[in-house]
Parts: sequence; structure tokens; C-alpha cells
Amino acid sequence: MEVRLTPEILSLVDWNSPLDDPIRMQFITLKSSLLPDHPALTLDSLGEKDDSPVPGLVHRYPGRALFLATSICPVYCRYCTRAYMVGPATGSTQKLPQKPTRARWEIIFQHIEQHNDIHDIVVSGGDVYQLPPEHLRMIGERLLSIPHVRRFRIASKGLSVNPGRIIDPADAWGKTLIDLSNQGRKMGKQVCWHTHFNHPKEVTWIVKKAADHLFENGVTVRNQSVLQKGINDDFATMSTLLKALADINIQPYYVYQHDLTRSVEDLRTPLKDIMKLDKELRGTLSGFMMPSFVVDLPGGGGKRLAATYDSYDEATGVSEWSAPGLPGPKGQRMYSYFDPRPLPATVEELRQLREQQDLMHKYRSTRTEDFVKVEEGVEVKLREENFRASEGSLSYGFHATASA
Ligand code: SF4
Repeated sequence: MEVRLTPEILSLVDWNSPLDDPIRMQFITLKSSLLPDHPALTLDSLGEKDDSPVPGLVHRYPGRALFLATSICPVYCRYCTRAYMVGPATGSTQKLPQKPTRARWEIIFQHIEQHNDIHDIVVSGGDVYQLPPEHLRMIGERLLSIPHVRRFRIASKGLSVNPGRIIDPADAWGKTLIDLSNQGRKMGKQVCWHTHFNHPKEVTWIVKKAADHLFENGVTVRNQSVLQKGINDDFATMSTLLKALADINIQPYYVYQHDLTRSVEDLRTPLKDIMKLDKELRGTLSGFMMPSFVVDLPGGGGKRLAATYDSYDEATGVSEWSAPGLPGPKGQRMYSYFDPRPLPATVEELRQLREQQDLMHKYRSTRTEDFVKVEEGVEVKLREENFRASEGSLSYGFHATASA
């Protein structure tokens, strides 16, 4: 992922102590903190590309669809689950961009219009905060005009990373959202904003002013956080964040277990941690301020409460899940989530794992069939080990061999 930041985010980093700063850690990578990826990490861990009947529309669940309006964001988060499309291509990663064009959106609108089982739309990306207000209005009014669409949500990080835009009288984005919310209310439809705060430092005085403005004008705002190691995975930080959000009338909605996204192994936490946090926080907050702690199942199984796994072996870090509410084969199969690998025991082990990972990144793939390449007469073989439990033991690692 490229690095892209707003002045707001840059100003929140404690530059006297950037190494442990929870804002810096979310956006700016340090090679020294990177850990080798778990073999199950991929660029599109939720399998969205496989559930897209037309480019830029993920239609996976009954009744709902995800409209990817653009692939640009005001910031690029290291842990983004849509790294397969968000931001420009980098030296190691090709992207599947979703250009913000009317022609592409028209195909999406037509698909929604033709499927009257779709009642609920998430408008995301990328981030529609990067669209001009007139494009936001055009998308919103078109969705409101479709009789069977009963509600839509704008999924945007804008409120946390560039809140000034909402209260700037010269900028019509906030007013457009308010207008859409009011229009929807008159039609008996809900238009709301799902935003994304991860740490209490992000709830600044400007955020408060912007959130107050939206509240005064009747816009419903909910928050989705991602649980991240060293950033918000402790009781005090998460509790402070949830209270700070509730105080400005942003409803804590979800806290996500980290997706199996590539190159952010250092930020992942084991499943047992999210369940512990859920248990500790419950009872300390009013029920309506308590978010759902969820795992978005790899491969498109959808969001499940973290404590509702079918099996979980803390020793191996493998949890298995079913999603019986999903139609067709998705409702029949099992889904696996993998905790982060144990930290390498020695510096030498870490060095070897990093060398192997560099090879994998060089070949821009984690697919097993791509692990055999020929380079300058040397055949380089990377063999993915079976990372599932095998005869009572589990191996998380890779083997790399080179032969002339
Ligand atoms: S703002 Fe959202 S979509 Fe954009 S990079 Fe961050 S997590 Fe990904």
C-alpha cells in the first residue's frame, strides 16, 4: 500500500516518540517492525472479487450489496482489507482499480434496479469522501429513487481523518450528506454514515464539532474499528475510545478482528484477545454503546460474533466457523481463521523468515503454484507448508530452497 496521509493525521502523531505511536503505526510502515506473513494472508482475504456480478458491486448476502464507488481514499491504512483495489499499484502489488466514472456506476445501478431483493446498500470504496459533492448527491439520489432500496450507508473514514470538511462552509460535502439523510427520512428510508475510528487520539475537538454538526442535523453516525496490536487491543484504550465516540453521538457498532491481510502480521491479534476484550468491556458500558466484536470470515462467510466459532484451538491458533444463514454452498462450508504466528524464537529464525518472505513478495504472489520460478538459471522453490493442524502439531512456516 502507498503512504497517503492527511494533515490532520500527521498532526496527531507524537513525533517525539513515533515508534510506539498508535497513529503512526496504522499508516506508516517501519521495516524493522514487519513480521513475516502467515501463509493464509492474501490481498483479498474476504474473496470480494469472487462475489462481484458486475465490476465494483459485491453482492454476496441476501438483501445487501456493497457498491465500490471509487478506489481512492483520503488516507491509506496499512491494514486495509481492500488492498487488492485501494490506492495505486506499488512495486510489489498490482491493483484492480474501481474508477469513479458514471459509466461504471450506471452498470451497478442497473444491477441493483434489476434485483429487487436488494434492500440495503453500503456505498464504499475506497472512500466516497474523495468524490465531489455533486457525485455523492447523484449516487445518493439514484439509490433513493430505487423503490426496493430501503436504506444505504456511506462507509467513509473522512470524519476521523479530515473532519474539517464537514464544517467548512465552502465545502458542500457535509451539506450534501445532510440533504440525502433528510430526503431519505421523508421517504421513510435510512441514510447514515459508517465511519472508522480506532484510537481515542483520533477523537479531536474538530471531530467533535463535525460530529455535533451532523447530530444537530439528524444524521445517524456509527463507528467500525479494527482491533490492532499495540494500538487498541487493551481494555483502557478501547473503553476510552467507545466512551469518547458515544459522547459525541457516534454509535460504536463493530470492532473487527483483523482480516487476514498481507504485510500487517505485526498488527494482528489472536482470537482469544478479542473475546477477552468483549468480556471485560461488557457491563462497563450501556448496552447500546457496546459494539459487536466480530470476525469477518475469510473467503466470504460474512461477519460472525467472535465468540460464535465452531471450534478454536488456542495452541494452534486455528478456528473453524460455519455460516448457516448464507444461501447455497457458502452456507454449507466451513471457514478457517488463523491467529498470527508465534513470534520467531531467535533473531536468526526471524532473518530467515524475512528472506523467504522477500522472495514471495518479489514474485508478487502467495499462491502455491507460483512458488516455483526460474531466475538467472537458478530454480527457486518456495513450498507452502501445511499450516493446518497435522498429527497434533501445527507448522506455520515456509520452506525456501534454491538449486542450480
Ligand atoms: S480508508 Fe478504508 S478503504 Fe481506505 S485504505 Fe483505509 S481502510 Fe482501506
